[in-house]
Amino acid sequence: MNEYKEIATPSRTKEILKAHGFTFKKSLGQNFLTEPNILRKIVAAAEITKETNVIEVGPGIGALTEHLGQNANQVLAFEIDDRLIPVLADTLSPYSNIKVIHQDVLKADLATIIKQEFKEDLPIKVVANLPYYITTPIMMHFLESGIEIAEMVVMMQKEVADRISAKPGTKAYGSLSIAVQYYMEAQLAFIVPKTVFVPQPNVDSAILKLTKREKPAVDVTSETEFFKLTKASFQLRRKTLWNNLQNNYGKTPEIKEWLTNSLETAGIDPTRRGETLSLAEFAALSNAMEASK
Ligand code: SAM
Repeated sequence: MNEYKEIATPSRTKEILKAHGFTFKKSLGQNFLTEPNILRKIVAAAEITKETNVIEVGPGIGALTEHLGQNANQVLAFEIDDRLIPVLADTLSPYSNIKVIHQDVLKADLATIIKQEFKEDLPIKVVANLPYYITTPIMMHFLESGIEIAEMVVMMQKEVADRISAKPGTKAYGSLSIAVQYYMEAQLAFIVPKTVFVPQPNVDSAILKLTKREKPAVDVTSETEFFKLTKASFQLRRKTLWNNLQNNYGKTPEIKEWLTNSLETAGIDPTRRGETLSLAEFAALSNAMEASK
């Protein structure tokens, strides 16, 4: 009888890689987890149960996928690397509730795939050890896809996790913090040492837990204009809000008057820097700008 050995143990991972003659592609952000305890902690942090459907990005050889399959109702795992498809067919063969989708997740029509694949209408959670070279685009792809995502529990570079969960007035706070916190509540779950990956990445990693807000953090007249404003306000971090606004919206007397009036209506001192403004202040400014266009 075959003794059950989970995929993520260092010896089994080595065995699988050798059996398939697999070599890592740095360009695809391939750093595989080889510590079962970390995987259990990720699944626990995401509170995955048989009443949850899961989307995973980048299953690799299936280390995390296996744990998700054991705990979730259904798992959809997007993998871009052709060479991993036969590996996953082998390692995940015991799990009938896991489907590997051979596709670049950034090009995936998530709404259609979810409708086709998930049999039951259950809360959807995104759980992944992300390919670090595209962490932000993947996060934005999910947030802007329009699909209902209850929670995201994702591993990324610690530095990016710090930026996403940053509070106003800190160095890490920026337009990425706002873009994510507008939709989700962000919480740093735990730090993961480099030593639990093969190959080891150069940087520390962190698990970020993002929980969908019932409604966006702030009320805005136009989301597009709100995000445009936040991006503009952080364009040159050392410049004042006034400088960044003029650089982005224009310097004609009409525009200057519009900006001055909007800042006054929102009660914001133009000499402040973008990083000191809360989401509520950005919303007030964006709404004032929209109202007097
Ligand atoms: N989940 C595995 C683990 O924890 O051991 C592997 C994680 S590894 C950090 C990232 C995975 O994402 C790799 O398997 C890589 O091939 C895959 N990947 C990279 N870019 C991708 C993309 N655009 N779409 C889907 N998968 C991608």
